[in-house]
Amino acid sequence: MRNALLLACGLGLSIVLHAPPAAARTPLATGTGGAVATISEPASQAAMAILDQGGNAVDAAVAAAATLGVTDPFSCGIGGGGFMLVYLAREQRVITIDHRETAPASVTPAVFLEHGKPLDFETVVASGAAVGVPGTVRGWHEALQRYGSMEFRQVLAPAIAVAEKGFQVTEIFHHLTSQNERKFQLYAPTSALYLRDGKALPPGTLVRNPGLARAYREIAAGGVKAFYEGPIARAIVEAVNRPPLAPGARALAGRMSLADLANYEARIRPPLRSSYRGYEVFGMPLPSSGGATVAEALNILEGFELRRMPRLQAEHLYLEASRLAFADRNAYLADPEYVDAPLAGLLSKDFAAARRKLIGPRAARTVAAGDPYAFQDDPSIPLRPRPARTGARLQRENAHTTHLTVSDKDGNVVSYTFTIESWGGSGIVVPGYGFLLNNELTDFDFGGPHPNVPEAGKRPRSSMAPTIVLKDGKPAFTIGSPGGATIITTVLQTIFNHLDLGMPMDAALNAPRLSERNGAATSVEPGFPGSPAARALERLGHRWESDPEEIGAASALVFHPDGSVTAVSEGRRHGVGTALVQRKGH
Ligand code: GLU
Repeated sequence: MRNALLLACGLGLSIVLHAPPAAARTPLATGTGGAVATISEPASQAAMAILDQGGNAVDAAVAAAATLGVTDPFSCGIGGGGFMLVYLAREQRVITIDHRETAPASVTPAVFLEHGKPLDFETVVASGAAVGVPGTVRGWHEALQRYGSMEFRQVLAPAIAVAEKGFQVTEIFHHLTSQNERKFQLYAPTSALYLRDGKALPPGTLVRNPGLARAYREIAAGGVKAFYEGPIARAIVEAVNRPPLAPGARALAGRMSLADLANYEARIRPPLRSSYRGYEVFGMPLPSSGGATVAEALNILEGFELRRMPRLQAEHLYLEASRLAFADRNAYLADPEYVDAPLAGLLSKDFAAARRKLIGPRAARTVAAGDPYAFQDDPSIPLRPRPARTGARLQRENAHTTHLTVSDKDGNVVSYTFTIESWGGSGIVVPGYGFLLNNELTDFDFGGPHPNVPEAGKRPRSSMAPTIVLKDGKPAFTIGSPGGATIITTVLQTIFNHLDLGMPMDAALNAPRLSERNGAATSVEPGFPGSPAARALERLGHRWESDPEEIGAASALVFHPDGSVTAVSEGRRHGVGTALVQRKGH
C-alpha cells in the first residue's frame, strides 16, 4: 500500500503529501434508483438531494458540479469549461454538450510568442492572457433546458448553501493551495479568499465564499444571461484585461471583450462512437481528443487476445497501444471547426490493424504518427498533409480537473468532466464573485505550425474523456477522470482492467496507473517503481518517469442486469471520493 502521494507544484516545487491510511477503502455503493460518484462529499450529497426531490440525472449532475465549484475550486468552476455526456433512456441515445472555453476574438496564432519564441509557460498560465471565454454556465443552461427537469434556482440551491455556510479545508485543499501560493499571491482577491498572510489556510479552517454564492444567486435569478451579459460579464472582462494584482505584482493581461462573452455558444455534438469486444463505447468528440484517442487505442488492443495472456504481456500491449494512439492524437487532433482532422481514418479498424503491426515484444521509443489518410475513404481528401511534429513538452498535469457521474431512477446517465485547466486556473479570482478564471488557452500548442495553434474563437484541444459504455443497447458502465492528458490513459486503462483483465470496477480504479503518452518514459504512481510488476515491464524495455505522482481521480457507475447500480469513487487519490445510491441494496 502506498503511504505517500507526490504532488506537482504549479510553480516548480514539489510536496510530499501523506495520504491518511483510513482513506484506502474504495467508496462503493450498490442499490437501486439513482446513483452518484464524485470526488467531494458535499457534491455527491447535493446530487442526491436533487434526485430525492425528483430531479433527473442532468439536474443532479449540475447540482453536484456547482457544489464542486465551491469545495474543489482549484479543479473546476464557472470560470472554466467542460464536456458532458448524457445517455437519454427514453430515446436510447447519447448526446454530448461541449462547453469548452473559446479563444477571445483578439487571439492570433502568435499570441504566446515573443520574437518567434514561445513565452515562458508558467508566466502565461498565471495571467489574464491565458483565460478562455468560460463555457460552464452556458453548458449547464443547455443541459437543464434540453434534458433537465429543473431550473437553475433549484439545482444551485445546495451549492449556494455550502458557499454561504462554509466548508472545511481538507488536506488536499490545503496542499493544492500551498502548491499555488506564489500564483495566488499575485492577485489581491485570490489572496483574500484562499490565503492568510500569504500562506495556505490550514486544514480544518472553515471557508465561506459569499462572492460565489452571490454569482450563483444572480444566475439563479437571471438565468444564463446574468453570467454572459450582466455585471458578472463586466467583472470577468475587467479581471482578464486588467488583472486584479496585489501591490507590486505583475502579470500579463488578456484582451477579452463583452462581445466574446455574449457570443459564447455551447455545442450539442453527436458522441464519438466506437466498439470494443461487443461493447459500444461513447466518448467525447473533438475538440476533445479524449474519445478519439481512447477509441483508437481500444481498436489496436481489440486485435489481441488479452484475456488469454499473462497480465505482464497484456500490460505491455496496453502501454504500446497507448503510445501509438498518442502519436496520432498529438499530430492530428484539434478543434473540428478549424481543422479537418482525418477522424474516419484514425478510427477505422484497418488503420488500427496497421498500427498494431508496429508493436513488438519490447517497448518502442517515441513513435511517429501514422498515416490515417490512407484509411480515410474520402475522395475529397487527395492530399496527405505531413503530420505535425509531436509536441515536445509533456506537461505534469496529473490530476487537475474533476469528473462526476450520475444516474437516475429512469435510467438516464451523465458522465461529466469539467475544469479550469491548471490547479487554480489562471489564479485570478473575479473580484466580488469568488470564482477562479481558467487558463485553458495554455492547452493550445504555442509554436506552430500545428492544428492546435491559438486562433480567434477556437477551442483548445482537450483530453477530457467522459465515457459511457453500452452492452446490448443498455448502459453497462461509465468512466471518467481528471488529469490532463493522463485522463485518456486513466480511462483506457480502467476499461482494459475491467473488460480485459476482468477486474471489478473498484479494483480497476484502484490498480496502479501507468500513463504512456509517447514520451521518453511512462508516467507512474508512487510505489510502482521497484515493484515486481514494474521490474517485469522494465525487462521488456519500459522506462518510468522520475518523480512518480498520483494520476487522476476517477469515478464510475456500473449497471447490473438486475437493474441495480454500483457507484465507485477513489479510495485514496485526491483525498477520497464519495459514492452514493438512492436506495441501498446489497
Ligand atoms: N485542460 C485539460 C484538458 O482539457 C484539463 C485540465 C487537466 O486535467 O489538466 O484536457
